[in-house]
Amino acid sequence: MTIVDTPERRQLRELTRAFVTKEVLPYLDDWERAGEVPRSLHETAAKIGLLGIGFPESVGGSGGDLLDSILVTEEIIRSGGSSGLIAALFTHGIALPHMVASRDDGLLERYVRPTLAGTMIGSLAITEPDGGSDVAGIRTCARRDGDHYVVNGAKTYITSGIRADFVTTAVCTDFPGSGSLSLLVIEKGLPGFTVGRRLEKLGWHCSDTAELSFVDVRVPVTNRIGPEDTGFLAIMQQFATERLSLATQAYATAQRCVELATRWCRDRSTFGRPLASRQLVRHRLAEMHTRAEAAREYVHDVAERVAAGEPVVTEVAMAKNVAVAACDFVVDAALQLHGGFGYLRDAEVERHYRDARILGIGGGTTEIMNEIIAKGMGL
Ligand SMILES: Cc1cc2nc3c(=O)[nH]c(=O)nc-3n(C[C@H](O)[C@H](O)[C@H](O)COP(=O)(O)OP(=O)(O)OC[C@H]3O[C@@H](n4cnc5c(N)ncnc54)[C@H](O)[C@@H]3O)c2cc1C
Repeated sequence: MTIVDTPERRQLRELTRAFVTKEVLPYLDDWERAGEVPRSLHETAAKIGLLGIGFPESVGGSGGDLLDSILVTEEIIRSGGSSGLIAALFTHGIALPHMVASRDDGLLERYVRPTLAGTMIGSLAITEPDGGSDVAGIRTCARRDGDHYVVNGAKTYITSGIRADFVTTAVCTDFPGSGSLSLLVIEKGLPGFTVGRRLEKLGWHCSDTAELSFVDVRVPVTNRIGPEDTGFLAIMQQFATERLSLATQAYATAQRCVELATRWCRDRSTFGRPLASRQLVRHRLAEMHTRAEAAREYVHDVAERVAAGEPVVTEVAMAKNVAVAACDFVVDAALQLHGGFGYLRDAEVERHYRDARILGIGGGTTEIMNEIIAKGMGL
């Protein structure tokens, strides 16, 4: 089932497309070289109501639901944006939902509203140098000391961590690796909180990625999200949205690459004929298109079920793997069809090829999705 296209959603697509054309495309190459997107982009996106899509108006969002967020993600990439841009500009999509769900007025006022207004940037820090897949094994610890927690540990690969004003941080509130997790909002500037070097990556160049270190960082207890030891559940509940976003980035990247490759194969002639006139090429494009469309339909179907409140953890994992597999196939084929030009920085497919590689790693790897699927099969 494809997400129902209402007049409001058509308007949302147009708004998104206009935003990308005017505010992103002229500058994206510069941001890729700079390693980050400017703060002003967050404010611009907030002013037109794009940043807050999927968040209720009562917390400063623009309203809409998961399906609207998916449409925005899809349209950004199909208009020539990138998954790296989405990672950078929409990091709040993973940093804020736990706070919104907690309905803690203090946290909503101090962090959620300013972030959705584009004046603050937030990150989510779960992964540690010792490992990311094993969330229960987190070793960054928070020891209670009066009305503060004292936090010690390290996080790595944190999206927007260089620019973030605060970090929604998974900490262990018992002994390291105990699985008793809580989420603390840790502000930049607190003594003992250090943001390390900017990590250099294969793709997602416009999205800054950081290492974070915490040495005896005193965090007020009021910055805890929800009751103590409910962090693991909170993280797992929000994974569905993150995984569907990554799945959307995957099929939308595939769709964009099908469009780019089709245009290229129509325009490019070899041995006196357009590439698109060769049966081998036509069939390759047909296969790329089929895989991208099938992934899109399946992701939409699962997203509809998540939005309806169905418990579809296994299906979310399958949707991510299906979309990532389609994307991997398509970006590789699209680059190949472009020949030497596909390997150059000037070619948009070159960026998608690099950006796509993270989609099967972030938000839970393909192997971890397979573990979830196997459990869902009763194995
Ligand atoms: C660009 C980028 C941005 C990121 N952004 C963030 C962010 O904002 N916040 C955050 O918290 N994290 C972020 N991450 C981290 C990401 O979520 C982790 O890299 C991912 O979860 C995998 O963890 P890991 O790298 O520690 O790999 P590991 O957990 O060490 O796994 C290594 C390999 O072993 C496989 N593996 C692990 N366990 C099993 C098993 N039981 N069975 C079979 N295979 C297994 C994995 O699939 C993987 O292939 C980001 C990473 C990157 C590269």
